[in-house]
Amino acid sequence: MNNKINEINIGGYEKVIHATEKSSGLDCYIAIHSTELGPAFGGARFWSYNKSHDAIEDVLRLAKGMTYKNSLAGLDLGGGKAVINLRNTEKTPELLREFGKVVEYLEGKYITADDVGCEIEDMKIIKEVTKYVIFSDYDPSPATSLGVVRGMQAALAFLRNDFVGNIHCLKGIHIAIQGLGHVGFNLAEMLHQKGAMLTVTDLNGDRCNEAAHKVNAQVVSTDKILEIECDILAPCALGAVINKETVEKLNCKILCGCANNQLSTSMVGYALKDKGIINAPDFIVNAGGVIDAYKDLGHIPTDFHVANIIDGIYGRTMQCLIDARETNMTTNLVAEMMAKKRLEQ
Ligand code: NAD
Repeated sequence: MNNKINEINIGGYEKVIHATEKSSGLDCYIAIHSTELGPAFGGARFWSYNKSHDAIEDVLRLAKGMTYKNSLAGLDLGGGKAVINLRNTEKTPELLREFGKVVEYLEGKYITADDVGCEIEDMKIIKEVTKYVIFSDYDPSPATSLGVVRGMQAALAFLRNDFVGNIHCLKGIHIAIQGLGHVGFNLAEMLHQKGAMLTVTDLNGDRCNEAAHKVNAQVVSTDKILEIECDILAPCALGAVINKETVEKLNCKILCGCANNQLSTSMVGYALKDKGIINAPDFIVNAGGVIDAYKDLGHIPTDFHVANIIDGIYGRTMQCLIDARETNMTTNLVAEMMAKKRLEQ
């Protein structure tokens, strides 16, 4: 293997590596946060990071989030993640194979999958060199979007003190979606089908036009979406979009989206709480895709069983919101505690 692999010692993480390979331009970090519940499972993100520091920060945050997500969804999987920095290179078959070799080197401690900047075709190339990759022949993102719809329904029922949980409660609800990629677009379609009113944005103008046409969405520029007055803001692009600065601009009642690690730090949860915004923690609501992947590992027999576990996102979200209100804590910290409880058990 031509890869150079360096271990980075980071407290609280079982293993973090930086792998580079000259001819393909591979520059990748893999973080294994925990294998307490099983092999660390989490997608590979192909993105252009300006600074290595940003890539490391992202992989660490994402890997930890996967530990919590997998634990809360009741899966016997740990948490890990890979980021591949495309700043000085391109996603070529050669680069994908070099990345696959690094995954193989970890001997199953980390299992990879698709994430931002990655397609099923890419996964097929990675699978040529490693068995530690999971993907289906179909796109898993509708499963993620479905779980987020259930999270939104729970948060709305909580907001209205309607614990019976009217399944049609999204009718007429105004939802702003940032990012119309795999998960964002599916979410928009599902919400439109349930009668929600949508405001959307994406860096890709074609996706916006398609949303305007298909789901009657109003399109706004990318710098306006966070401040739109709406019932629910759904970040469905990259992480850390809710930070010290942006939180002050928010004009929503509920934060509930598909993106991983929406809060730049867990402390931002307090700013949301102070503003009276209900935060449905991302790692509870966006677990649909990983639950679906669990079936491909042979742990869930049918798609109906998958749908049943995804449906449980409603109850898990509601439990988190109620516990947070009763303990006067932020919802993200309560969700972390819920996840850690299973790890400790
Ligand atoms: P994707 O690459 O298909 O889509 C991301 C979209 O966001 C792209 O269309 C991109 O143009 C857009 N975007 C990026 N920055 C933006 C900005 N500043 N403003 C507006 N649009 C912007 O990725 P995806 O698979 O849809 O994943 C999106 C998010 O959901 C990620 O955070 C990912 O980790 C998370 N997620 C995805 C899944 C899944 O099943 N795909 C599961 C769990 C979590």
